[in-house]
Amino acid sequence: MDCVFCQIVAGKIPSEILYQDEEVIAFRDINPQAPTHLIIIPKRHIPSLIHLSEAESPLAGHMINAANELAKKEGIAESGYRLVINCGQEGGQLVPHLHMHLLGGRKLSSALG
Ligand code: AMP
Ligand code: ZN
Repeated sequence: MDCVFCQIVAGKIPSEILYQDEEVIAFRDINPQAPTHLIIIPKRHIPSLIHLSEAESPLAGHMINAANELAKKEGIAESGYRLVINCGQEGGQLVPHLHMHLLGGRKLSSALG
């Protein structure tokens, strides 16, 4: 089990966990790019977005719902925030475990890539 996010799920790597349920877990990014920078992941190891089957697609909605609730808790629901999923090498994905970034707390760049 050399996946860093699976190790966070297993409690083998410390992280600031802000939310979890049976399916997802959310924690603060170790290298924040904005005042609020959270990572939301499925607990089950799914390597990337392209590996999310149609049958598993409700999980994506579940992750978005968790992100929306966390945005409220972080006080950025009104000011605005951004959800990002990087997929694959050219998509900028570094950690090969599906994850969603929740970014906010400042005016984010309008550049998308
Ligand atoms: P990505 O480039 O989309 O794969 O983003 C991976 C993110 O995971 C980066 O923003 C990293 O800072 C973050 N990250 C990597 N290791 C950890 C960790 N142990 N705890 C929290 N965040 C991490
Ligand atoms: Zn994993």
